[in-house]
Amino acid sequence: MTDSGVWGARDAKGEWQPEELPKPNPLFERPLKLKTILKYHFGFNGFFWPFNLFYALLAAVSWIYFTPALERTVHFEWGWVAEIYLRNAVLLTLIAGGLHFWLYIRKGQGTAFKYTKNWLTTQNAKFTFKNQTYDNVFWSLTSGCMIWTACEALSLWAYANGKLPYVSWRTHPVYCVLLMAMIPVLRYIHFYWVHRLSHWTPLFRISHYLHHRNVNVGPWSGLSMHPIEHLLYFSGFLMHWIIPSHPLHMIFHLMHAGVSPALGHTGFHKLVAKNERGIIADNYFHYLHHRYFTVNFGVEALPLDLWFGSYNDGSAKGNAAMLARRARLGNRVS
Ligand SMILES: [Zn+2]
Ligand SMILES: [Zn+2]
Repeated sequence: MTDSGVWGARDAKGEWQPEELPKPNPLFERPLKLKTILKYHFGFNGFFWPFNLFYALLAAVSWIYFTPALERTVHFEWGWVAEIYLRNAVLLTLIAGGLHFWLYIRKGQGTAFKYTKNWLTTQNAKFTFKNQTYDNVFWSLTSGCMIWTACEALSLWAYANGKLPYVSWRTHPVYCVLLMAMIPVLRYIHFYWVHRLSHWTPLFRISHYLHHRNVNVGPWSGLSMHPIEHLLYFSGFLMHWIIPSHPLHMIFHLMHAGVSPALGHTGFHKLVAKNERGIIADNYFHYLHHRYFTVNFGVEALPLDLWFGSYNDGSAKGNAAMLARRARLGNRVS
């Protein structure tokens, strides 16, 4: 396995850049190229497959086997709320912990496809317990999983009491499938705006700074946030209090927000086993956000950063635009 090879190159500072830089979603390019659009969304390593479909499947299994029946959620009780917390915490531990174990403890692929040569810090007073991993696990499993669980429990209670617009899979299967497919998109739009809001200096200083202590990132960094940021970050589930939804949609929405950041913060471009064949787990776009702070507030699949001037694909042109914008805005983090 090579450290650089045909996939990209590492510079003198130890920063590795993939050969293929983030590309905007072809849906927003003109003229429209149908084949490219279909491949981007439905091809392997595309928008839906494998990861977003995998998260949807996790949500379906959770709803069927690991969610208290609505008859139980009519009244708040610690028992069923604790069951949901346990399910969420176990799921996050399996995904973030599994990735962390393979990439950072076993160092299963060394520094191949790793964006920076540095490993996570174990001696730094800016982190809780002076240890980046312990800090990240702590904020993820306490505030992160608790607020995620609270949003879910509140919604299940509201569904059970007939307070939310409910739609059945049996009577509206097409609508239900389409809404499932739209949830990642709706979530990314919401994420972009609450993330930009989090970079408003007063809010950054009291909450978002905590996530940004992770300049170098690992899988547990994804959900490592301040409680104020968790409240904002998970608040997208409220869409299902307005849009007619099934509880599964709400569970998928929150679960996507809860577990997908683990993969979005691996610090590795690709997950490989023995050779260079593997799954692209591209998080370079967000990695650049952690490195430079003032770019890439959203995801590359949506053109919001492009439209609002904060897009940086890591190219010389992207870096120059970032520096020009910074000079214009001064030292702000927004
Ligand atoms: Zn992040
Ligand atoms: Zn940020």
